[in-house]
Amino acid sequence: MPTETFEFQVEARQLLQMMIHSIYSNKDVFLRELVSNASDALDKLRLEALRDGELDVDVSDLHIGLEVDREARTLTVRDNGIGMSREEVVQLIGTIANSGTAKFLRELKDAEGAGAAEGLIGQFGVGFYASFMVADEVTLLTRRAGETEGTRWTSSGEGTYTVETVADAPQGTAIVLRLKPEDAEDRLYDYTSPWKIKEIVKRYSDFITWPIKMAAEPEPRAEVPDAEPESESDAESESEPESEPEPRLETLNSMKALWARSRDEVSDADYHELYKHISHDWNDPLEIIRLHAEGTFEYQALLFIPAHAPQDLFMRDYKRGVQLYVKRVFIMDDCEALMPPYLRFVKGVVDAQDLSLNVSREILQQDRQIELMHRRLAKKVLSTVKNMMVARPEQYATFWREFGRVLKEGLLGDFENRDAILGVSSFASTHDKDAPTTLAQYVERMKDGQEHIFYVTGESRQAVENSPHMEAFQARGIEVLLLTDPVDEVWVDTAPEFGGKQFRSVAKGEVDLGTEEEKQEAGTEREKQREEFAGLLARMTELLSEQVKDVRLSSRLTVSPACVVSDANDVSPALENIYRAMGQEIPHAKRILELNPKHPLVVGLNRTHAERPDDPALEETTELVHQLALLAEGAELPDPSRFVKLVADRLERTL
Ligand code: ADP
Repeated sequence: MPTETFEFQVEARQLLQMMIHSIYSNKDVFLRELVSNASDALDKLRLEALRDGELDVDVSDLHIGLEVDREARTLTVRDNGIGMSREEVVQLIGTIANSGTAKFLRELKDAEGAGAAEGLIGQFGVGFYASFMVADEVTLLTRRAGETEGTRWTSSGEGTYTVETVADAPQGTAIVLRLKPEDAEDRLYDYTSPWKIKEIVKRYSDFITWPIKMAAEPEPRAEVPDAEPESESDAESESEPESEPEPRLETLNSMKALWARSRDEVSDADYHELYKHISHDWNDPLEIIRLHAEGTFEYQALLFIPAHAPQDLFMRDYKRGVQLYVKRVFIMDDCEALMPPYLRFVKGVVDAQDLSLNVSREILQQDRQIELMHRRLAKKVLSTVKNMMVARPEQYATFWREFGRVLKEGLLGDFENRDAILGVSSFASTHDKDAPTTLAQYVERMKDGQEHIFYVTGESRQAVENSPHMEAFQARGIEVLLLTDPVDEVWVDTAPEFGGKQFRSVAKGEVDLGTEEEKQEAGTEREKQREEFAGLLARMTELLSEQVKDVRLSSRLTVSPACVVSDANDVSPALENIYRAMGQEIPHAKRILELNPKHPLVVGLNRTHAERPDDPALEETTELVHQLALLAEGAELPDPSRFVKLVADRLERTL
């Protein structure tokens, strides 16, 4: 096949432009990205060889090789891993398939200045393209395991790349970076210095479980650090003469599986680099979680809570789950059987002792031990968040801001952990405009005689704060949780309780606030009012029978004339909408119109009804009062143009 020239996809081109102009301040990380990809490629080859007995590959010396050439000013990163076919090269390297990346790039376009862009890149990571931070030309030579022909890919990152088929490529991938000339004089960026390369590998890739070997040139500098004494190749090369043309190979990384070591042997910096390798995030994680399970089913887990929610956390193709290892051997990425969906942001490694290396996703889904592991890991993550909440409030605040919305999904499905999830949840509340509250804090502040945890649901804080349903609560200074995430509407409907207190919507059922004494007093007054308004209520119920199931007096209004509420056990209108949007047929629940017996409009209506029961104004006003109540809670009117006509007629009469 001849050499073909392709154009990079638009998003890829944008990303490359940013890399070329190197807006990321720490360029060294390009090597971490390439080594990370090479390590993944070795993992994949080992797995494929394990699963496919026919695959004719040598897996006896899998490693990553680094070579520097000072004269040509090139750095080569080589692996004898899975490699890529020609189609894969075009598809994986020429385009950006990840939907999160596309979204990220759109945001980047809007982000102002290089500072903001750098922050976003850090949040995201750009993998292979990071090479263009240091190279003005990149050549990738690769051959997929099991195929005979290889592929050479070349680009300067400026819009196009070429692809050609080559006959004699070794299996695996070699990436040759032609380093930018402008970095040649700067020791900080001298990526042809073996010393520099060693330092970067030690810092970012020490834990990689494959040997990273370097064919070191004799080092002229004095500050060459000692080579790793335990490295096998050292012993042999020691006796070789200085002029030996084959450069000696040394292994740069210690290859320790961090999860198998005790906490005090491993620095946070080491954990952070492992996290970056696994997550493709360029930032440090928010929290590290370790778990060693002993006994009949032994495993080790090293989990991370990221500091930022990824761009695609709510997208359908978001891959969840942690990496599964079996006895230090990588088995699979995104092992969803190990994490519930509402903890899909957790990254990390789980290494099990007693699973077969051939284990498949299907088997994992049904495995009893895996199920137990899943439950234990979920509990461990939740208890870690709980500790964070108690001991490190600022860190917890970050956690909640980034992941609270996802975590609350657990209230819908994971009943076993519902209390634990509620225990680590925070909600906006009328208590403090700026800071959310935990439920424990809410319960602490509950007034004498208050039996419920009150909440209001709706689309935005502003809409719910000013809703008429809130009036009695505001008047009495009773705190109300302001729940404005769509998921809130659903979980509160399952009416959970917290610390023995039931959740209660301010827009449902009767409101009965105050001390016992006050309640009694209010009861007597209500009796009186009911008699006074009985005729009007019956008449209005009849007039509005199509729209509401009852018209009654309200104890929740202090300012507005009327509001609509749902029966305590009925589905709220917002939830009805959510079910319909999901394609579920659900009967429409009629609501209740409540009147404020102290409001002049209601008092006037009552008088008119008593004095002139046949006055046509009575009917129109009844209709208007109902519609005003709907408007006040932000609901849509069944017939807006009729409403406008009625109001316009009345206004006209006042002129
Ligand atoms: P990411 O690693 O975040 O997926 P990259 O741009 O770094 O993104 O790489 C894109 C894809 O190209 C990888 O997912 C992998 O499938 C493939 N790839 C990259 N480097 C190698 C390699 N050394 N060997 C085999 N495949 C590779």
